[in-house]
Amino acid sequence: MVDFKMYQAGAMKTAVYPGCGEGNWTYPALGLAGETGEICEKLKKAIRDEGGKVGPERKEAIAKELGDVLWYVAALCTELGFEMSDVAENNLKKLSERKAANKIHGDGDNR
Ligand SMILES: [Mg+2]
Repeated sequence: MVDFKMYQAGAMKTAVYPGCGEGNWTYPALGLAGETGEICEKLKKAIRDEGGKVGPERKEAIAKELGDVLWYVAALCTELGFEMSDVAENNLKKLSERKAANKIHGDGDNR
């Protein structure tokens, strides 16, 4: 099992782009949007071609794209000076507080 700290360090060992590790958040932000789009495209085609079912081959392809998303999250966190583990922990804390306050539904980042 890989934890976020290990993953982030490992991801950055494979990072090759202009300004890598120097605060270049543009490149990973664009990559994150692109990889997210790849997932949506595959799911769109499941609707178009398979009546909304996601078959095993498509699932496998989507799992790989989710990995690509994770990689860009790691790179973006690094460029912005965040630890992925802190981001993950804070997100769970925020969501559990919302659930406890019965505010999962609704709008606003700071519910
Ligand atoms: Mg991809």
